[in-house]
Amino acid sequence: MNLILMGLPGAGKGTQAERIVEKFRIPHISTGDMFRAAISEQSELGLQAKSFMDQGALVPDAVTIGIVRERLQKEDCQTGFLLDGFPRTVKQASALDELLTSLGRKVECVIHVDVPQEILMKRLTGRRICKECGSTYHLEFNPPKVAGVCNKCSGALYQRTDDNEETVNNRLEVNMKQMQPLLDYYQDAGVVKTFDGNRSIDVVFEEIAAFLGMMNR
Ligand code: ADP
Ligand code: ADP
Ligand code: ZN
Repeated sequence: MNLILMGLPGAGKGTQAERIVEKFRIPHISTGDMFRAAISEQSELGLQAKSFMDQGALVPDAVTIGIVRERLQKEDCQTGFLLDGFPRTVKQASALDELLTSLGRKVECVIHVDVPQEILMKRLTGRRICKECGSTYHLEFNPPKVAGVCNKCSGALYQRTDDNEETVNNRLEVNMKQMQPLLDYYQDAGVVKTFDGNRSIDVVFEEIAAFLGMMNR
């Protein structure tokens, strides 16, 4: 299962990814998570990515493509993967195609989670994430059982520094411009499956899981 999750920031990619990878046993590869980990480790990659991320701008393609190429060659990706937040540009998409072709593989499905733009601001400013395991919550739409504490691992929840109104506006603008050509790219390849993401987390997941279950038979 070589899968890509696509959708605007706040569409529910991370939330659905948690559930998809648990059910289908493939690794969740999120470039945003990889960059955030690099920043907290203060590695060279983190230094390169930080200034772009703080502005809600895209990290340059060369850097981003490099980390994904390395990651996809690891052992755990051999039976499949779920890419989240990558590709974000047509250049990244064609680099991914080249890489997969060289490995004798291809993108099998782009799971497009579609949510109207006006819903996204509230989702993002209310988002909270577990420091320990990365699980995603929402103050109103998916609150933890105990405020500020992860249901799964009791880790402390935090708010991403870029989940503030100003940066969100910029991220939405940047992402909208970039996503349409990407959807066109994969639509041409006939691999896009669009899901209505403006319903409850469980309903969206049920539909995605049913579709993947059929695809996987
Ligand atoms: P993305 O990874 O696409 O940016 P997330 O999965 O982090 O999005 O979700 C953004 C916020 O919206 C989170 O706080 C999450 O709990 C919440 N959320 C996700 N899916 C839904 C949904 N279907 N309905 C309501 N809130 C949702
Ligand atoms: P969101 O989907 O909410 O913008 P992500 O966690 O996917 O959040 O990404 C956070 C930031 O990491 C982005 O604003 C961007 O700076 C950087 N980033 C993540 N993925 C990519 C990518 N594929 N190409 C370029 N920059 C990326
Ligand atoms: Zn946790």
